[in-house]
Amino acid sequence: MSHFTKQIHSAKTIAITGHIHPDGDCIGSCLGLRQYILDHDPNKQVDVYLESVPAEFLFLKGAENIFLEPQDKEYDLFFVLDCSSVDRFVPFADMVDKAKILFCIDHHISNQGLGDFCLVDPQASATCEVLCQIFDMNEISLSCAECLYTGIVHDTGVFKHSNTTKATMTYAGNLLEKGVNCSKIIDETFYQKTFVQNLALGKALLNSSLEVDGQIIVSFLTQENLTEISASSADLNGIIDQLRITKGVETAVFLYPMTPESYKVSMRSNTKVNVSSIAQEFQGGGHIRAAGCTMHGTIEDIKQQIISRIQQQL
Ligand code: AMP
Ligand code: MN
Ligand code: MN
Repeated sequence: MSHFTKQIHSAKTIAITGHIHPDGDCIGSCLGLRQYILDHDPNKQVDVYLESVPAEFLFLKGAENIFLEPQDKEYDLFFVLDCSSVDRFVPFADMVDKAKILFCIDHHISNQGLGDFCLVDPQASATCEVLCQIFDMNEISLSCAECLYTGIVHDTGVFKHSNTTKATMTYAGNLLEKGVNCSKIIDETFYQKTFVQNLALGKALLNSSLEVDGQIIVSFLTQENLTEISASSADLNGIIDQLRITKGVETAVFLYPMTPESYKVSMRSNTKVNVSSIAQEFQGGGHIRAAGCTMHGTIEDIKQQIISRIQQQL
């Protein structure tokens, strides 16, 4: 029996969490794991804790039961998914600390072995793909398959990023066989944007500039920009992807405010630059072609620091 199966068997109470600002892979993997466990044993207690759940993911089974705030509870087993370090699950860190066993499942190259058990496959496109490796494909329900498919769609940018492999497509194909409605999931969770999200994209494109002979594109949104269009950080997914596909660009950088003194830095590269190593220099992390970190200072300072790091690699 694998560690995974053994730990689930012996735990009476199980909790699952993922990283702050949860994305499709984070939400899909947390809900997919919950569903897989419940499909095998409906009497198990399996609670999911996430900081927020964007409206487009609320159709996934179990999304309505997600706890948005920590509780004063001690679990036998706590899964931490799609998350490479403790500072990424801050709101629930105390709860995770109190749990008897911490089991981490992830695909971030920057994950150095979090928890008592840690399964990390940096070759996997998504944490949902790592779950496909662990789960018995014959025992995945349609509800579980929808969660896993959503996660893979999001972390591969609909099967187009360089992390998409033959294995990714095979797992996705197996999930489709369970009856997943791929057009609906792709359109309604990935491509569809609210009016406010489109305004944020438009503003970010107007704020963008080309640097280093057009090899780098940098953009930002200020708190004033966000306030003006009533947008929040949850409305900014996908902006970095639009920047990255600008003709001639190797690396895209996008900043948005976290606090009055700090900015979230998102980076994507096309073929050359290892953005994960740059993010790690600033205590962030991610993957070779998609990474992020939080930095203190003015937009101008942060831009210059990041541009010089990218330039060293070009
Ligand atoms: P994002 O730019 O937020 O879409 O993130 C790109 C990738 O980098 C994702 O896989 C994130 O999980 C990871 N990442 C982003 N920000 C951080 C951070 N502050 N620390 C560690 N990993 C991060
Ligand atoms: Mn993620
Ligand atoms: Mn992921």
